Amino acid sequence: MTDFRSIDAATGQPVGEPFAVHGPTDVDAACAAAEEAFDVYRATSREERAVFLDKIGAEIMAIGDELIEAAMRESGLPRARLEGERGRTVGQLGLFAKVLRAGAYLQVRIDPAMPDRQPLPRPDLRLRMVPLGPVAVFGASNFPLAFSTAGGDTASALAAGCPVVVKGHPAHPQTGALVAAAIERAVEACGLPKGVFSHLTGPSNELGAALVRDPRIAAVGFTGSRAGGLALVKIAQERPVPIPVYAEMSSINPVVLMPEALKARGAALGTAFVGSLTMGAGQFCTNPGLLLAIEGEGLDAFVEAARTALPEAAAQTMLTPGIHAAYTKGTETLASHDKVETVAQGKVGEGITAGRAAFFQTTAEAFLADETLGHEVFGASSILVRCRDEAELTAVLKAAEGQLTATIQMDEGDTDMAARLVPVLERKAGRILANGWPTGVEVAHAMVHGGPFPSTSDARTTSVGSLAIDRYLRPVSYQNLSAALLPQDLKDEAAGTLPRRVDGQPG
Ligand code: NAP
Repeated sequence: MTDFRSIDAATGQPVGEPFAVHGPTDVDAACAAAEEAFDVYRATSREERAVFLDKIGAEIMAIGDELIEAAMRESGLPRARLEGERGRTVGQLGLFAKVLRAGAYLQVRIDPAMPDRQPLPRPDLRLRMVPLGPVAVFGASNFPLAFSTAGGDTASALAAGCPVVVKGHPAHPQTGALVAAAIERAVEACGLPKGVFSHLTGPSNELGAALVRDPRIAAVGFTGSRAGGLALVKIAQERPVPIPVYAEMSSINPVVLMPEALKARGAALGTAFVGSLTMGAGQFCTNPGLLLAIEGEGLDAFVEAARTALPEAAAQTMLTPGIHAAYTKGTETLASHDKVETVAQGKVGEGITAGRAAFFQTTAEAFLADETLGHEVFGASSILVRCRDEAELTAVLKAAEGQLTATIQMDEGDTDMAARLVPVLERKAGRILANGWPTGVEVAHAMVHGGPFPSTSDARTTSVGSLAIDRYLRPVSYQNLSAALLPQDLKDEAAGTLPRRVDGQPG
């Protein structure tokens, strides 16, 4: 393809100047620069990297409204949402700067030598985490700022000490270019090697595939479709030297509506559900795409409230014509399924990418008989599974695929049943919520935005929150190295400057 341009999400029409279509030579140059920069970059102090991350945040803010307008045009998302997302992006960078300054992420462990131990002396052992190497980051279309060029994966990899090569998302090339330039200015201002950050652009699968194949890439962060994530996992596993791919892919985020909660506030829950379902045209990886409940009057009140509220929901511009087409196909397939009833739909939109919200219902028996009913329809689509009793509801949960989140809407009288469900949900999801809606992911130390397959390709990590730094680190143990050879944070003199475990105890 010779002409690669920004697409206006609302009209589907190309706008602005063409962007570079990068190819194999550019991938090679970016990876060579990243590899060359790695040793210099990983030798920087925690404070130097913290200053760098803060500087990236400042440079992003300094772009001003041009960034918000580009993101609005390319994603169709409203101003307030994107201003919030910019704040979240800068906040994430700031969080990792704090993580670096605190130093706990290094997980320093010291087992002092025991020269007199019988029958054998114990050597001096000191452990810390070190960066993996250059990281390839694939940003998401649905968060053009917070999960993209300078998003969570970039921030955590840079914090870890890994150079980053971003494969820009073709749905927002202008937004990506503005943010990439901000990072490049920060690299220069901090006196770091250029290869610490590179940005590759182009609209073909081959660009990303070549990046993951490059032997200098040590890990991959990805957010997007199941097909895209699995394609990259396969490439990474087939390399002569396989590497980890942290792919966040698809999740329908079950919400269990418990009997007592439905009895007490079924209608209010129905209205609140419609608000969560339709937020951001439903284009959240945590969108509530699956509801489960036991038959009863409370459930009927819930459904009636949703049936009343949803037709008032305006159609919203979706991120790309491709995502709109996939959404439309997914909802049409559900609507025409002989075991699925369409409860309600939102308003019809005017633009060619306007997504119309949809709410369906089916029985547990039908859901268990057809696994396609549990597949993600990315957008404001959700299906309620009506169960006869707790056993059937539990069976549906056990049959569901791995999820980013699982929610229990409950009252006090539901506690016993909820206690029986929590162990089931622990095996299914990375985050378990009570009395909330899964959309809205706090950037915090105790957050997990990850989960069993297919919500991610590796359930051991998170892409949001300070724990995300772990995915780009590995442990190294230093045995009997003299102080002259030890890294600064492992020397005796570093005591008190960062958390450590000495002989397994804080100290
Ligand atoms: P996508 O098609 O998976 O694309 C994500 C990134 O991966 C893009 O940079 C894309 O660039 C690249 N890519 C995709 N397939 C590839 C392959 N086979 N080899 C190499 N690179 C590949 O995702 P999207 O366009 O953002 O959205 C499409 C669908 O993804 C949605 O309908 C939804 O189902 C899902 N999605 C999920 C989440 C989530 O949070 N879980 C978020 C957004 C989207 P190229 O196309 O240039 O190769």
